[in-house]
Amino acid sequence: MKMSKMFFTTLRETPADAEVVSHQLLVRAGFIRKTTSGIYTYMPLLWKVLKKIETIIREEMDAKDAQELLLPILQPEELWQESGRWEVYGKELMRLQDRHGKMCCLGPTHEEIITALARDEIKSYRQLPVNLYQIQDKFRDEIRPRFGLLRGKEFIMKDAYSFDADEAGLDVSYQKMTEAYVNIFNRCGLETRMVRSDSGAIGGSVSHEFMVLTRTDSGENDVLFCDTCDYAANSNRAESKMLPAETDGKFNEAKEVDTPNVKSIEDLAKFFNIAPSAICKTLVYVADKRYVLALIRGDKAIEEIKLKNAIDANEIRIASDDEVKDLVEKNGFNTGSGFIGPKGINVQVIGDNSITELKNFVVGINKTDMHLVGANWGKEIDLPKIVTDIRLAEAGETCPVCDGKLDITKGIEVGNIFKLGTKYSKKMKSTFTDENGKEQPFVMGCYGIGVSRTAAAAVERYHDENGIQWPMSIAPYHVSIVPVNVNDELQMRTAEAFYKELMDKKVEVIIDDRSERAGVKFKDADLIGIPVRITVGKTITEGNVEIKIRSTGEMLVVPKDEAVNKVIELIAKTA
Ligand code: ATP
Ligand code: MG
Repeated sequence: MKMSKMFFTTLRETPADAEVVSHQLLVRAGFIRKTTSGIYTYMPLLWKVLKKIETIIREEMDAKDAQELLLPILQPEELWQESGRWEVYGKELMRLQDRHGKMCCLGPTHEEIITALARDEIKSYRQLPVNLYQIQDKFRDEIRPRFGLLRGKEFIMKDAYSFDADEAGLDVSYQKMTEAYVNIFNRCGLETRMVRSDSGAIGGSVSHEFMVLTRTDSGENDVLFCDTCDYAANSNRAESKMLPAETDGKFNEAKEVDTPNVKSIEDLAKFFNIAPSAICKTLVYVADKRYVLALIRGDKAIEEIKLKNAIDANEIRIASDDEVKDLVEKNGFNTGSGFIGPKGINVQVIGDNSITELKNFVVGINKTDMHLVGANWGKEIDLPKIVTDIRLAEAGETCPVCDGKLDITKGIEVGNIFKLGTKYSKKMKSTFTDENGKEQPFVMGCYGIGVSRTAAAAVERYHDENGIQWPMSIAPYHVSIVPVNVNDELQMRTAEAFYKELMDKKVEVIIDDRSERAGVKFKDADLIGIPVRITVGKTITEGNVEIKIRSTGEMLVVPKDEAVNKVIELIAKTA
């Protein structure tokens, strides 16, 4: 491709609405243009990247015997009524009406369509297993479309669905997809970890997310990962072993003590000259309109998703000061937050595992300016009926699997795999005849990859202050040739000869034949992030050209006759 003909413009300014690096660079380098919030045009440069990611996906899916098809985007309401998701999916589902008043939606995912297809097409266990996939635009009316391609209202997804006769079959299909995913992301040059995840609205029992570890502070999720083994988990479900801490308050007897205006854990610890880890912290939550008390060791924090799951609530939030007062008053006390404790408050109390080892500890007793010191479980205060893990795991703590150290990084979820089981097939009466002639519902799995999000994740992972550094395998082009001065006959002739030779050798190459200043061309080349650059400048009179490797900044001076081979060698090495 000649850059003089290429449909792209680079921008010097960062767009005002772009909060994350991938959004900023993809716009600045001319890969995407915004149509409206969450909706983008994929410009020719990005389209090349997306097609490469798709090719990798196709090869790896096909290698696991999955078959590609294309399902309709426009889906009838009836199918969603059958699965029960027309209501459940809520506002994220893009609904529309046709001219006859029939309701439809734009597919955010395709369990309904595919389950109906299997119902019609797969009659016998002999036709199983089957795994079908497609690569297609998906539509979700996200509450907050943001971060460019990371969270769009329209985005490209690969979605696959497996059908098996039983759980054992599903386990095999799931394992095959796991392997495909590991290969796909590796080939895209991305370091991912597979983490156990909440299955959310899609449902099913087991699910895993594939997270790109950005190893920077960009990304939507906090991921805790072990520096020694494979363990990794989203912070909202990560577990850890705590580091040793002083959990004995060392008070000789239990008594109520004046603590005038001493409310926070930090102030209490100072006041009594004890470790925060010898204090029992009491927090009030509002869970689906009821109050719940959560107890945790003073130096630790509650993970609200864990708490929510432990008490089986749909929504929780920390109570306001007024609500705390309200709760306390309802129970016959009169104090505010800071002095609250579990004793005498008649609501569900849930404790974190960390409280069990507390001894002779300090805790609130619902009296203003007072605390109980020297408390022990089963004596002054009962251990809550539910004690479980509701604690936020932290970096520096110990891995729950091995004894390695946990570290934290931002992560981007690029893929998600679910064991759906019979959730959809039962509801939609999608069955086959088993070996004994009995009707059985399909045992299903579903497997998604955000294709456009993967491209953005690669930019989050690979960039520097000058622009993108595409991994070779998904770069829009392998090589860019920059003749420094297009009016210099020798430079142009050499550059064009490289261009032709590289194209003949099937190298994907662009030549910057624009009559721009060299500085502009170099800046654009860095911004766009083509992995290898050949600069043909003044040194050509001595027979030399420069080769620059974008990811490392390394610069090589090579005789012009060796340049093409050198470039091919570099591509092979990093592909
Ligand atoms: P998230 O938790 O990020 O909303 P999800 O659990 O809703 O993701 P899935 O329904 O499992 O996502 O979709 C499969 C994949 O599609 C995700 O792993 C992600 O890579 C991608 N994806 C989901 N929503 C979006 C979006 N709004 N924009 C871009 N990619 C998306
Ligand atoms: Mg979502």
